[in-house]
Amino acid sequence: MNSLFIEEKELDALMKSIQPYAKKGSMPEYIPELNKMDPDLFGCAICNEDSMTAAGDADYLFTLQSVSKVISLALSLMDQGEEVVFSKVGMEPTGDPFHTIHALEEEKPSKPLNPMINAGAIAVTSLIAGKSGEEKIGRLLTFIHELTGNPAISICEKTARSEKENADLNRALSYFMKSHQVIDGDMESLLDVYIKQCSIQMNCKDLARIGSIIGKKGRDPNSGRNIIPPRIARIVKTFMVTCGMYNASGEFAIRAGVPAKSGVSGAMLGALPDGTGIGIISPPLDKKGNSAAGLKLLETLSQKYKWSIFT
Ligand code: GLN
Repeated sequence: MNSLFIEEKELDALMKSIQPYAKKGSMPEYIPELNKMDPDLFGCAICNEDSMTAAGDADYLFTLQSVSKVISLALSLMDQGEEVVFSKVGMEPTGDPFHTIHALEEEKPSKPLNPMINAGAIAVTSLIAGKSGEEKIGRLLTFIHELTGNPAISICEKTARSEKENADLNRALSYFMKSHQVIDGDMESLLDVYIKQCSIQMNCKDLARIGSIIGKKGRDPNSGRNIIPPRIARIVKTFMVTCGMYNASGEFAIRAGVPAKSGVSGAMLGALPDGTGIGIISPPLDKKGNSAAGLKLLETLSQKYKWSIFT
């Protein structure tokens, strides 16, 4: 069944029944500003072409965190091409958590396993075209304005500062990769771009629009233009399936079968090939760093509306 049949009151009722799952999660600790988010926030937007169904806190602004990895991957692939990008980052899922460092030491050459874990995402961000960090983040924002049609989307400087003060693990990953010639340049400037990228803030409706475009081969439903080339949209969607929920991706593929990406803010993005895009926010996280209620909501929606791409 197509998502266009979902009514707001139906989504609202479903969310009310799933809200208790948030209690099973806990708030992230390593970025203090995220820890301050309201654990009861719960928003969801589902869009397809020009229809949008939204419920709960769908207008609330939150930072993308790891959801941004999907967008920076698309942009760096558009900037540099597959050969360059995949010379720096692999295509394989991992059973390790998103901030793992040990795999970098075991892999020879020590390039990160995939673009959805922190090391891989930092390497990908280093490939965004631009002479300065400012230009790189500016280009990423412009790309997001184009994808969402919302030029007001900006960086939450407070969250970026909060992460910068607690970024030693990402700093370590960056310097490790530099010492093994995976990436080069000024690591502090690169970290700055990566952290700002994670702190880009938007609401569930903006996120759902991005999902819709990625889902439908990169095509903008308004202009009919391909904002993302179809082949790149396909690569991005494939990574969302194999690595989007970190080391919970296999189970999520079986239960939901939706190309999706989560972030430590409790954000979740879903992208279906029929152009259905889903944006969710619910901050408490399960043990693997995925939104506890968000995961349950996407699984339930997928089962109810037969969204799995593996049917
Ligand atoms: N900004 C966070 C970090 O790099 C993003 C991680 C996440 O969302 N899982 O640690």
